[in-house]
Amino acid sequence: MITCTEARAALLDADLDALRPGAPGPLSAHLATCAACRAAADRIVGGTAALAAAHGRGTGRTPASVVATALEHGRRLRSRQRRIRVLLPLLAAASLAVFFVSDLPLGSPGLRPPVPAPPALPPIVEAGGLNVAVFSTTRPDVTVVWQF
Ligand SMILES: [Zn+2]
Repeated sequence: MITCTEARAALLDADLDALRPGAPGPLSAHLATCAACRAAADRIVGGTAALAAAHGRGTGRTPASVVATALEHGRRLRSRQRRIRVLLPLLAAASLAVFFVSDLPLGSPGLRPPVPAPPALPPIVEAGGLNVAVFSTTRPDVTVVWQF
């Protein structure tokens, strides 16, 4: 036996024949015992028939063909909604991945290829027997020479 919540969800996907009294299946069994869900099913059947009659007037279409078209449209709509329900979390995950990857600092060692060390430069100071230390700085025009 299905619950009222399950029956209401099944009402939205069911063919009209499944909503008629005496149809086989768990939905029909629930509708036979639950007045509230039976009333909801009757509203769907009655509303669909009224819509088909109103829409079919003057178009030459039979109510059955209008109902079939409406049901097919409903199926396509539900199929599209299912696809959106599947794709939406994937798009959200992809957006988060892009956000976090773009938020990584550019200096991360894993993101940059290793830079080879510059070749050692020959000494630029003749110390004449003194101890000398030469420091390069970040400014290309400044070099520190320390004699000790
Ligand atoms: Zn019910």
